Amino acid sequence: MTTPWYDYSYLPCQFCVGKNHCAQCGEEIRQALLGMAGVMDADMDVPARRLRLVLEGVDADDIIDQADAIGVFL
Ligand SMILES: [Zn+2]
Repeated sequence: MTTPWYDYSYLPCQFCVGKNHCAQCGEEIRQALLGMAGVMDADMDVPARRLRLVLEGVDADDIIDQADAIGVFL
């Protein structure tokens, strides 16, 4: 299943050269999400600060909780 778009607030950009919603930092979050069990794909819309996930065999709520735990939605 594909989740709706979720707004997220965290980007590691304060530590990188771009410092402002750069695609590279979006990719870092994407890779972290893809590392979670059940996450088949992740779409990052960095300028709009939103993301959606393609999940298989897991509840979206569980993945969102896990993402929250690593600070994606701070
Ligand atoms: Zn950045």
